[in-house]
Amino acid sequence: MSLVVVGSMAFDAIETPFGKIDKIIGGSATYVSWAASNFTQPIKQVSIIGGDFPQEELDALAAKGVDFEGVEILKDEKSFFWSGRYHMDMNTRDTLVTDLNVLAHFDPQIPENYQGCDILMLGNLVPAVQISVIEQMRTRPRLIVMDTMNFWMETAMEDLQRALKMVDVLMVNDSEARQLSGEYSLVKAAMKIQKMGPQYLIIKKGEHGALLFHKSNVFFAPALPLDDVFDPTGAGDTFAGGFVGHLARTKDISFENMKTGIIVGSAMASFCVEQFGPNKLKEISSHDIHARIEEFVDLVNFDISLV
Ligand code: AMP
Repeated sequence: MSLVVVGSMAFDAIETPFGKIDKIIGGSATYVSWAASNFTQPIKQVSIIGGDFPQEELDALAAKGVDFEGVEILKDEKSFFWSGRYHMDMNTRDTLVTDLNVLAHFDPQIPENYQGCDILMLGNLVPAVQISVIEQMRTRPRLIVMDTMNFWMETAMEDLQRALKMVDVLMVNDSEARQLSGEYSLVKAAMKIQKMGPQYLIIKKGEHGALLFHKSNVFFAPALPLDDVFDPTGAGDTFAGGFVGHLARTKDISFENMKTGIIVGSAMASFCVEQFGPNKLKEISSHDIHARIEEFVDLVNFDISLV
């Protein structure tokens, strides 16, 4: 199944209790593609970068089957820059800087070659841009997956609600699900959010795993207990990349297969957090991925005899 990925490509500065880095490659689309390219190729990317974005980073992704025809390069401008600082628990972070730079002019034009895609992954971006991409697709993709964040709930709620009506799967974290629905119970929140449009809802809970809701069905995938979480930046996007990559590889968008998809997403996210930025994702092999997925199977497998 063909996959189009839309999102930011960025420079990030990250501070965690374990270290600090002033400039590293990031962006929602970058992480999605690093993860998904282990399962499906080509990946047709839609984004915007400045002349400062390193050619070797584009080359490394191109070698993983990422197509940049839909990535606009504004030679004389700067790429999107984001900076964040994590608290000791690593589940919460403060955004220190968001310099939109080229993202401020982002008006993606979908190349002809991207038409007819099966899965459209809308990484975290301004909802009006997410809508514009959906509207440019002449045939509706079989599955539209969307990520978003609290920032858009506060600044672009009307557009966000319009976007929600157009997508099949929404991915948010637990606090965003509560904010969007006004419900503390995640079960009630899931019911309300499904009424806003998406038939499937994935709620990410960081080190506490992820929940998949569809109608009255719920599935839970734990996060792998790791010795050290070094940097959680991009874990959500990496999860999304593993999820859509798995669906594209298996050509199956059923609820049953989405359950496996969230295990694959969780496995990919567990690599992401082990090093700064996407560094770990750049070095893993398919052998590492299989071994990690096996660890998940062992983690949740148990025998029980009912009395
Ligand atoms: P995550 O940790 O999964 O939420 O993703 C972090 C990535 O999202 C970073 O690499 C940032 O460059 C990117 N990012 C942060 N804020 C935004 C935003 N407002 N729009 C698009 N991308 C963003």
